[in-house]
Amino acid sequence: MNDIIRMENVNFSYNNRETVLRNIDINVKKGTIFGLLGPSGAGKTTIIRLLTGQLRHDEENIKVFGNKPFGDDFYRKIGIVIDSIGLYGRLNCYENLRVVAKIHSVEQGRIDDVLKMVGLEEVAKREVYKLSSGMQQRLVIARAILHEPELLFLDEPTRGLDPGTAHDIQDLLIFLKKEGTTIFLTTHNMQEAEKMCDLIGFLFDGEMVESGTIASIKKKYDIRAYIQVIGNDGVKREYHQNRDKEAFLECIRNEAYCSIHTQEPSLESIFINLKEGKADVQDQKNREEDKCGLL
Ligand code: ADP
Repeated sequence: MNDIIRMENVNFSYNNRETVLRNIDINVKKGTIFGLLGPSGAGKTTIIRLLTGQLRHDEENIKVFGNKPFGDDFYRKIGIVIDSIGLYGRLNCYENLRVVAKIHSVEQGRIDDVLKMVGLEEVAKREVYKLSSGMQQRLVIARAILHEPELLFLDEPTRGLDPGTAHDIQDLLIFLKKEGTTIFLTTHNMQEAEKMCDLIGFLFDGEMVESGTIASIKKKYDIRAYIQVIGNDGVKREYHQNRDKEAFLECIRNEAYCSIHTQEPSLESIFINLKEGKADVQDQKNREEDKCGLL
């Protein structure tokens, strides 16, 4: 089975009130990293809760490992890194992991290996309350991967961390992916998504407004289509791929350049444009609702 996660046309509301997820489709294949991007309140955590069985639902269209995401066997196969840290402050790093090792019947030797993987071997005997927030996050990740889960869920794994720690965590996740782990993460960090994700989805206001590979999304939104040329005279010029075609070709024929770059939109600019587009649609909806109210 290749699809580790499959959501098809999923809708969800808390307590039958306002719908917070609409027509969500997500497929995540084995050994890939899927990144869910979106502003606060978009519904990212709700999706993780649904996929990890923390939110019970009757949806037949949510399958993880081909089944509904519940049951002991399921929890042996997944690791979760979410907001609520839940570490034991008075226990040291090693002891925290030993508690989890017992629950999952993991050999003690694995604890040392994992502490090393996350770069905590030198503070293994330090109590958690004395650790920096970056170290605590490393320990939370250590705890989630201790039992070698096939699938790892991470809700903003590098939020609030210094760039060095964030970089180490990203590299660790890429390493785990190479070892065959499937990873589902949410992030606000576009660079993180570019570095790590095979597929991404942009979630706004409970709707997946765009999804695919980063390259395909960039190609789709590459409406600027400018080519930047630095001439032999050192001057930077921009040619529009259609409008300035002749001038650009002339420059090439004359070999009057020392470098040529195409300018593709950054993920961040796409994110902002989509967000603003969504805001426009929302404004329009509000205006129409206002009008209806007036009639
Ligand atoms: P994100 O993770 O993208 O910030 P969430 O999934 O936390 O978004 O929230 C999506 C929407 O669902 C928000 O409007 C939020 O207020 C609402 N929500 C989240 N948790 C609950 C809950 N337990 N009960 C009712 N509404 C909730």
